[in-house]
Amino acid sequence: MGTKYVYDFEEGNKDMKELLGGKGANLAEMSSMGIPVPPGFTITTETCVSYLDACQYPEGLAEQIAEKLASLEKKMERKLGESDDPLLVSVRSGARASMPGMMDTILNLGLNDASVEGLAAKTGNARFAYDSYRRFVNMYGDVVLGLKPEGKERDPFDVILDAKKKEAGVELDNELSADDLKDLVVRFKDEIKKRKGVEFPQDPAEQLRGAIVAVFDSWNNERAVAYRRKYDIPAEWGTAVNVQAMVFGNMGDDSGTGVGFTRNPATGDNEIYGEYLLNAQGEDVVAGIRTPQRLEELHKYIPEAYDELLRIRDVLDAHYRDMQDFEFTIQEGKLWMLQTRAGKRTGFAAVKIAIDLVDEGLIWPDEAIDRIDPESLNDLLRPIFDMQAKEQAKRDGRMVATGTKAGPGAATGQVVLFAQDAHEMKQRDPEARLLLVRHETSPEDIKGMDAAEGFLTQFGGATSHAALVARQMGKVCIVGCAALDIDYEAKKFTINKPGGGSVDVAEGDWLSIDGTAGEVYLGKIETSPSEVEQVLITKTMKAADSKVYADFDKLLTWADERRRLKIRTNADTPGQSEQAVAFGAEGIGLCRTEHMFFGGDRILAVRQMILSDSLEGREEALEKIFPMQEQDFVGIFRVMQDRPVTIRLLDPPLHEFLPHEEADIESVARELGVSAEEVAERNKRLKEANPMLGHRGCRLGITYPEIYQMQVRAIIQAACEVAREGVDVKPEIMIPLVGSEKEMQVMRELAVTAADEVLRAEKSDLAYMVGTMIELPRACIVANRIAINAEFFSFGTNDLTQTTFGISRDDVKGFMPTYIEKDIYPSDPFQRLDQEGVGDLMKLAVERGRSTRDKIKLGICGEHGGEPTSIKFCNSIGLDYVSCSPFRVPIARLAAAQANIEQTGGQGH
Ligand code: ADP
Ligand code: MG
Ligand code: MG
Repeated sequence: MGTKYVYDFEEGNKDMKELLGGKGANLAEMSSMGIPVPPGFTITTETCVSYLDACQYPEGLAEQIAEKLASLEKKMERKLGESDDPLLVSVRSGARASMPGMMDTILNLGLNDASVEGLAAKTGNARFAYDSYRRFVNMYGDVVLGLKPEGKERDPFDVILDAKKKEAGVELDNELSADDLKDLVVRFKDEIKKRKGVEFPQDPAEQLRGAIVAVFDSWNNERAVAYRRKYDIPAEWGTAVNVQAMVFGNMGDDSGTGVGFTRNPATGDNEIYGEYLLNAQGEDVVAGIRTPQRLEELHKYIPEAYDELLRIRDVLDAHYRDMQDFEFTIQEGKLWMLQTRAGKRTGFAAVKIAIDLVDEGLIWPDEAIDRIDPESLNDLLRPIFDMQAKEQAKRDGRMVATGTKAGPGAATGQVVLFAQDAHEMKQRDPEARLLLVRHETSPEDIKGMDAAEGFLTQFGGATSHAALVARQMGKVCIVGCAALDIDYEAKKFTINKPGGGSVDVAEGDWLSIDGTAGEVYLGKIETSPSEVEQVLITKTMKAADSKVYADFDKLLTWADERRRLKIRTNADTPGQSEQAVAFGAEGIGLCRTEHMFFGGDRILAVRQMILSDSLEGREEALEKIFPMQEQDFVGIFRVMQDRPVTIRLLDPPLHEFLPHEEADIESVARELGVSAEEVAERNKRLKEANPMLGHRGCRLGITYPEIYQMQVRAIIQAACEVAREGVDVKPEIMIPLVGSEKEMQVMRELAVTAADEVLRAEKSDLAYMVGTMIELPRACIVANRIAINAEFFSFGTNDLTQTTFGISRDDVKGFMPTYIEKDIYPSDPFQRLDQEGVGDLMKLAVERGRSTRDKIKLGICGEHGGEPTSIKFCNSIGLDYVSCSPFRVPIARLAAAQANIEQTGGQGH
């Protein structure tokens, strides 16, 4: 037997996503659950891949399709496109991972000039028949024949439709008569002929083959490729194609179509949530053609179908043990399910749903943890509008419109009307804060949406494209803001205010949107911290008053019980340390002392030190810095209490501390009582061709030991002071940029001598550690020798990535985007740890370090320490901790739990 390319819905199930795609697998699953699903079959993803490789149907595919089609025709007791009573089908794409709206779907396939008459006669509903036909010609023209709008032109089919509506004197598509629709079909076909030079095909078999091929090809269309890149979906997956008997939501007012969620995707509340339109088909709801109704309203119009939908909501939610996003159609009062999949949700909803599902006994805490994308916790930490600023804006009459809340949080930005422009503006100015304002968004807008802080749309509902993307990207979003009237040509819009009157907003004007409340404000509004931050950090809210905080806390408590990695933070000040501890940090993994060198008066002393030519001169300057540096450490130790604190000795090259602008040079010279020439001269002497690889790190400690000695004394002195307050202080002295055994040996001797001198004077037996940052490939290779004198390694993966790749992180602009686009690198190694190269060096260092010192303490303090896939890697190579910025600590706690559950199989039940 050859390869099986095609599966009936009866032959599949939900675990066959790889082969049948998500849509196909779940259609199969629902069929076998006894949920009403129109019958059909699925052409596998593998078929798509071989088709795309060979640019032709693989051998035997045509026969298998014919066979499955014949059995579908038998089941439906109709033949595809037959003239008196045609079977019509949809041809639907469906990849393994959901890629909403990225690929193409064609409805009502099988209609032609003859079968449309047959359908009209058979149903006694000519309006319905021609409505279906005009939709089919439109979709086929677009997807298969490639009739797309060019540039900023509007969709030509939409233009024709609008003209027709105007001629007919109606506003909505469902008010057009059968004759109007019949005329539309003619005009659509003419447009195809005119623009594409081909006749619209009448032969159903040709239509079917064309549609299948087009769906295969849509795997490689521009927006699908962009989406795959953003969400790391491999190009080799391919898409499945589902061919399914049509059911019709456009047969009248006892018919309709809709989309929904088994729980609220914005808040997570356990309620049905969604929208529908009567007498409509396909994506009308999502496309914002007419303003859809809330699902709860459906019970007034088609009560049997609504009750059935409520029943199926419960069945799906319990069967999949997760919130589902579903699509349905009602044909003459009967409900048909057309799709289900795990629903995209905000971070708020993700946390609430996971916890509720545990409470409902549907999942275990391990699963709850596993399901939440750690990054989505950002939603809960995202700023909201400053309450007072918002109230003031309200009093000032700046709240000018409301809409449907679709993405929580607060965003303020400059208005842009075209996604392409937003994308370009952001590329020119990464600091730009933009709000994308549109009639509705579509998949082509993805890049521009990514560039914006938030979206505001005139049409569409909570399940529209803009809303969906907002939830996924974590953007602020309001949709269906009917008060807007956008004039794309004039690059402005009018807001019709609720109390009458209107106001114009032009591109570039500032606007603010509150996605949590669904409110639109003129001008800028300052933002303020999230509820979680208000409870934990600013303490302006009580824990008991925040449900969001309660769920957050519960989840992270579960996570803490399940992780092995400790989570530390990178913090240089007592304030940052305090924030991090509030977010759950268990230590400081990296405290950079150079930041302290810049503060207040000390920069002057630092410069004095750099300018002096003698040891005595430098020591004199260092004596001035010492007490200030000591007090910095006292502040941090007090906050951190008995948690370990890793302090890195001075790392950057000294010229970073000198002024470079002429005016600054002069004023500094005056302050120091030296000549400007002297400062300029020193600048010249310290100048390096490649400072990243220059006189920095422990190379400073070797050449100017007095600097490191002062720093070590300050650390230990501070530790003694705080220890006297009864705190079990745990200082860890970290030597940067070590690459050889001898460097580490000399640095250790220096540190120990300086530290012990202080301890003797203080009569203290305080314990401290000396270790190193591992950030050079050579350090990884000779880690066994370095470990002789290092009690800990902390992987400085920013520099380790730079030095391993031989790439300066500050100079990647010219090529990194191309590298990612061309798949030369799977991802930016500065964002996501390169496990294959840098990671392997880390593994080597871990092994060799342990071979010398089996209890050596291991951590990571590069920015990768807060990135979930990198955290997983760190867990797998047995590091003791990861360290990240304070606001990423909760994300790291969750990611570390996920990593450990995956690695150990979890706690089970
Ligand atoms: P997408 O992946 O973009 O959501 P779908 O394949 O789900 O595309 O198709 C979009 C819409 O087309 C569905 O939500 C549904 O409303 C409609 N549709 C698809 N197949 C059928 C069918 N067999 N009968 C009726 N409507 C259908
Ligand atoms: Mg779609
Ligand atoms: Mg769909």
